[in-house]
Amino acid sequence: MVMAAVAANAESKPSATLIVTNAAVYTVDKQHPKAEAVAVIGDRIVALGSRADIDLWRGPKTKVIDAGGKLLLPGFNDAHVHFIQGGAQLEQVQLTDASTPEEFVKRIAAQVTKAPKGEWILGGRWDETKWPKQELPTKDLVDPATGNTPIFVERYDGHEALANSAAMKLAGIDAATPDVPGGVIVRDASGNPTGVFKDAAMPLIYKVIPPMTAEQRLRAARAAMKHAASVGVTSVQHMNPEFADVSAYSELFEKDELITRIYAAPMETEWRDQAKVGIRRAWGSSYLRLGAVKGYADGSLGSRTAYMFEPFTDDPGNRGLLSDEMHPASAMRDRLMQADAAGLQLRVHAIGDRGISMILDIFADIEKEHGYHDQRFAIEHAQHTAQKDFERFAKLHVVASMQPYHAIDDGRWAEARLGHDRTRYSYAWRSFLDHGVALAFGSDWPVAPLDPILGVYAAVTRATLDGKNPGGWIPEEKITLPEAIHAYTLGAAFAEFQEKEKGSITPGKLADMVILSDNLFDIKPEAIRNVKVKTTIVGGKVVYGDR
Ligand SMILES: [Zn+2]
Repeated sequence: MVMAAVAANAESKPSATLIVTNAAVYTVDKQHPKAEAVAVIGDRIVALGSRADIDLWRGPKTKVIDAGGKLLLPGFNDAHVHFIQGGAQLEQVQLTDASTPEEFVKRIAAQVTKAPKGEWILGGRWDETKWPKQELPTKDLVDPATGNTPIFVERYDGHEALANSAAMKLAGIDAATPDVPGGVIVRDASGNPTGVFKDAAMPLIYKVIPPMTAEQRLRAARAAMKHAASVGVTSVQHMNPEFADVSAYSELFEKDELITRIYAAPMETEWRDQAKVGIRRAWGSSYLRLGAVKGYADGSLGSRTAYMFEPFTDDPGNRGLLSDEMHPASAMRDRLMQADAAGLQLRVHAIGDRGISMILDIFADIEKEHGYHDQRFAIEHAQHTAQKDFERFAKLHVVASMQPYHAIDDGRWAEARLGHDRTRYSYAWRSFLDHGVALAFGSDWPVAPLDPILGVYAAVTRATLDGKNPGGWIPEEKITLPEAIHAYTLGAAFAEFQEKEKGSITPGKLADMVILSDNLFDIKPEAIRNVKVKTTIVGGKVVYGDR
């Protein structure tokens, strides 16, 4: 069809501004899955075909990229990121791969030396499961190295963080501080806080940390976009941005500096702020949109705060924690009901089987009351879904917004938390697809690396990072390469109501594309993780790689 149109208009048509030729084009478009070349005018794809066909679009000013036979895909769309936080963390202390408490302290000490006096040491993303003893860090471990510099370094999942004595002093925390519903202040035998704060207890420290300045926020956004371009991410769905983050994006948009397309989903507790000015789902421009709200049902598996029907296998008596906003669940239901009535999209974090089930109950109530009108409710993470609930996802048209990398990371220890039988439907991409549930992929960056190639690798191999499951952890839940690419492109675009605008290489859509170093379809699954991005194109402009 496209070819015929090209031939008929050969004399009158305008010339392309960009042609990518000599490529192995995999379009993610069922109508026209493969091609050799693509023509772009301005920010839109105008034609797709053989090299010869597309050459007809060449004019004197056309920029031509010879892809050297390499794979060309639609740009990746990350359906779940914390983008400004991620950008800020690129400059913060990196603790994720600190494999001993000594290394952990050494890196914090180096950051204290580097940082301006009095500035908080934040970020970190430590992971004590990689330490020989797998014990939580304490203030006593870091105090000698940090002195008067306050620190509040997060665990990699963002659900707990370590404060030193200086930070706790600023926050007025001591043995007399009462516990918080939905949170934990970890204490020693005599009741003194050890420095670790979980979930709803974390704001006790956060409230005394000065907010980022506007300048810091712009810097973080620029760093995040640069990193995104380098890994082929052309669109992101920013969960829980602060309104100041949206303001930073808006300023960058005005300066023509946005090179990542952003859909922002602020906290559901603030739904009125969007609704009162008439913002509905997916409102805005191709670069910056609002109109979703993001909520939390529970915590995380790593912190044993995911809300479960049965207790954790390695912590009997503990079934996890509902979020603050779920106390009571009816309050969450009422807010989401009103947000849906206002036309806002609902995206709710739920990880434990019971947390997921409770959010599905709420979605069922909303659909009963307001009817189905293509709302695209989404459950973010949907990590440990009860077998009985897959059908409900499908029936209620709920998008499963998942992060495949978590499976190969958490898969190292998830069975210890849940037991073998309960992990059968953990990170169950195959089960979701088989039930006809729409699947959107993302990373949860900075909780996991932003690189979508690692996500695709995780989805098709399920090979845990410790090398202990080369054939795949719960191999029944592996999905195919085309399915994984779909979830990371068109599936993610669907989750943000943009499947007609992006997510496939189709004439008329936005010209967001990536050229990869190797053809994912020609290599062994285990080699996918080594594939790099050569060139990233957003809106017809090269934003990364050879220009
Ligand atoms: Zn998240």
